Amino acid sequence: KRPAIASPTRTRAIMTAYGLNFKKSLGQNFLTNEELLKQMVAVADISANDDVIEIGPGIGALTEQLASKAHQVVALEVDQRLLPVLAETLADYANVKVIEQDVLQADLPALIAANFTGQQQLKVVANLPYYITSPIIKFLLQQPIPLKTMVVMMQKEVAERLSAVPRTKSYGALSVLVQYQCQAKLAITVPKSFFVPQPKVDSAIVKLVKREKIAVPVNSWSLFVKVVQGCFAHRRKNLGNNLLSIIGKKKVTKEQVAAFLNGMQLSDRMRAEELTVEQFVELTNKLQKSAI
Ligand code: SAM
Repeated sequence: KRPAIASPTRTRAIMTAYGLNFKKSLGQNFLTNEELLKQMVAVADISANDDVIEIGPGIGALTEQLASKAHQVVALEVDQRLLPVLAETLADYANVKVIEQDVLQADLPALIAANFTGQQQLKVVANLPYYITSPIIKFLLQQPIPLKTMVVMMQKEVAERLSAVPRTKSYGALSVLVQYQCQAKLAITVPKSFFVPQPKVDSAIVKLVKREKIAVPVNSWSLFVKVVQGCFAHRRKNLGNNLLSIIGKKKVTKEQVAAFLNGMQLSDRMRAEELTVEQFVELTNKLQKSAI
């Protein structure tokens, strides 16, 4: 059996053999620690019951660890230079399919129908390109696909935001929007020395488990996004003033906003970071129904 792709020497050797440089613009920092990749696969609890979508396989370091446990792996890579590399490094794994594809442009329902039988659970496991971490997570959560779990590596600061609880500095719009749909947990912190080339910041692996049923759903997703983003738009402003900006000063007065919030046992002097996800849902649904 060949040695794991995930080592600094093999990574550099593969890149040299193909005459390739690491493209910073595509977030190409490759993981070179086999032990960590095994831990990541364990966090995702990958078994023969799982079909996995990987985003950005690079030269296949994580892909081969996934392939040795999963039923099937479909890996989407935007950099066409890496396709011949992956064809060779993953040649031993019959259950892997690499597709040249920008994930943000992917028709995931069609891709899933074409590649998986639908008998297995669907999971996403990826070491994300950091320049588009949030867009990818938002994109994946909006797709009409039967996704169970996402285990994704990202910059530590974003991982902290995804998993943040109310009344902390990291808690913001991203925390609320993601946690509405998922349970989020920061699983492993990863030092930058585990990558080639080393990124500027440390990283972390986050586990997102999609909620099977949302206790109180929002009636309008677009209004929810508008309210949550608007309430956090100016962190130092209070809830009342942020809401006033969202609704528009021509439509309501400060006093009406205060009274509306009081009706929900909230105060206009609170800050967005004090509200739980459930309170943002209630606020959105009440706003939609009320005259203000
Ligand atoms: N999975 C490899 C690893 O763990 O070492 C590589 C991870 S590297 C951080 C991110 C990968 O995502 C790169 O291979 C990059 O080319 C790819 N990538 C960047 N933008 C992408 C996009 N829009 N769609 C799909 N892949 C993308």
